[in-house]
Amino acid sequence: MAELLYQRARREAQQIRRSARVGTSGLRDLIDIAETWGASVSVDAMEPGLSGFIIKNAGDPAARIYVNGNDSAERQRFTLAHEIGHLVERDSLAKDNEYSFMDYRNAKNEYNLHEFFADEFAGELLMPAGPFIRTVRDHGEFTAAKRFGVSVPAVQKRLRRLQKNPPPVAHR
Ligand SMILES: [Zn+2]
Repeated sequence: MAELLYQRARREAQQIRRSARVGTSGLRDLIDIAETWGASVSVDAMEPGLSGFIIKNAGDPAARIYVNGNDSAERQRFTLAHEIGHLVERDSLAKDNEYSFMDYRNAKNEYNLHEFFADEFAGELLMPAGPFIRTVRDHGEFTAAKRFGVSVPAVQKRLRRLQKNPPPVAHR
């Protein structure tokens, strides 16, 4: 069977986790990954509700990622992981040289396949299915949020996605 989009997104994230260290706090680890993929990362104050964005113009040597520095540390981590998801999707699937995605907290932007990919990617990058499911099962959502350096809503969203599209048995 052909690989589905969520499977591709999770596989890309798993692949990165095999070669890069993904910690649970701060942005340094994720910035390193973004830079490995050729993007620069800036953290700046932005309007409330805007989590971040990524932009790549045709003439630019590299994509630029911006993260809203007013958000909590946990939200900033998820935003950066999500923007890396856009980067990976554009680079490895679309081979696209010019693009931009604006990410608002309340889905003011259209929720399309690009956003779906970026969210699945970010979920797997920050909350790898196996350890994540075990942690939630044994210790609950709050502990999982602490342990994986994300917000409780991010834990709940990841759980819903894993219920909708369960990982293969080996990853549970
Ligand atoms: Zn996005």
